[in-house]
Amino acid sequence: MTLPEPKEWLLDEENELRIEIDFDTKVKLRLVTGTAEVFGTELGQNVDYEFSGRKIAVFTWHGCKILITGTCSVEYIANETPMLSYLNTHIALEQRRVLATQNNKAGPRVLIVGPNDVGKTSLSKMLLSYALRQSRQPIYVDLDCSEGSITMPGCLTATPLTEMIDVEEGFGSSATSAPTAGSAVMPLAYYYGFPSPKDNSKLYSLLLSRLAQSVNRRLEEDEAARTSGIVIDTNGLIDATGYEIIAQCIKAFSVDVIIVLGHERLYADMTRLHQKSGVAVIKLAKSGGVVERDTAFRRQTQNQKIREYFYGTSKSELAPYSTMINFHDIEILQVGEGSLAPSSALPIGEDRKVSETHVVNVEPSENLLHSVLAVSNADKRVEPDILETNLAGFIYVSEIHDARKKLTVLSPCPGRIPKKFWWLGSLKWAED
Ligand code: ADP
Repeated sequence: MTLPEPKEWLLDEENELRIEIDFDTKVKLRLVTGTAEVFGTELGQNVDYEFSGRKIAVFTWHGCKILITGTCSVEYIANETPMLSYLNTHIALEQRRVLATQNNKAGPRVLIVGPNDVGKTSLSKMLLSYALRQSRQPIYVDLDCSEGSITMPGCLTATPLTEMIDVEEGFGSSATSAPTAGSAVMPLAYYYGFPSPKDNSKLYSLLLSRLAQSVNRRLEEDEAARTSGIVIDTNGLIDATGYEIIAQCIKAFSVDVIIVLGHERLYADMTRLHQKSGVAVIKLAKSGGVVERDTAFRRQTQNQKIREYFYGTSKSELAPYSTMINFHDIEILQVGEGSLAPSSALPIGEDRKVSETHVVNVEPSENLLHSVLAVSNADKRVEPDILETNLAGFIYVSEIHDARKKLTVLSPCPGRIPKKFWWLGSLKWAED
């Protein structure tokens, strides 16, 4: 098979090459001369980077030559970007880190807010990468349960970062750590199980508080993380529920910098509501390169994430283990949804909120086929504590043997799945 001719792109200083690659194609990218970065991570010269199902910007501060091999669905050079304002924001945050180090205080705790598809996750990556490039060790908090930049969708996570974010895999490289492997970069994950914070706001708020407690404890114990600070990526909710979540976040994580991306009114509201309590509110422009992702693209991204969790990426392949489990060795649990009784059926004095955090058992059946379940670290079923117990990892139900009362699951680590309680959310995946 003959490889397509590589296409050469010459970028002037402060230009970016924006490319979109479909899920069924692979594109190789090589920096030939000069310097360039992808969402803050520098590219090595003459290294081939491979992408599939991604929308990215290759930005250069000083000019560069890039070779692209393969077919992109979109490719163009932009010479107007907000990158200088993003870099200046980093410089201001770094000054806070320097002061924090000198005075043994906490570094900046940054909350990034804005509607969907304005570049919040991309900006989080850039600010974190720039901090890492200055030998800082920030914590990345991801509250966007719809996306799952770190592990699977449906989770609230916190990840202490010590190594550069991978150009090809993004934050995803830490997601491939096997459950219970206890890797240094294993994110701390709590399972929410719904795509929007609105689906079960009581549970979302409970888990947000729990995650903040864990992060605050880590900051107390870890000086490098404390002075480096945290970057919190949020979901795109900017209605009344979104405002409540933002307010809770500011309190729980002691946020002292809010970055509002691409939304004037939100900026005005954040300034009015939070500046008086000493929080710096910064407005940054949305990059013209940010692409709106439709439902089909989001679903494909989700499938890609799940696939990578079990099988790894072309760069670091994993061979998942298939294990047969007896129905009676596990308990499959679900929050709220299955247990939502009509308000009239609830005991007097109890409102619906109570059932939102009520845990119910799910009988294993054919319905579980293709589900991705979150394995809880809990050893005992004590409510409500079990809701707030972090995750060991995920398994995928590949077969149900109803008559034999067994199920076959895929897991990225070998041996018996040591944990008994598995959460069922709304994630399904048909292996291809
Ligand atoms: P949000 O977190 O606000 O929903 P993202 O940062 O996830 O937005 O960006 C949405 C999509 O646009 C992602 O696929 C991201 O990779 C892409 N993207 C962001 N910035 C750029 C850019 N400058 N050029 C090309 N694609 C971009």
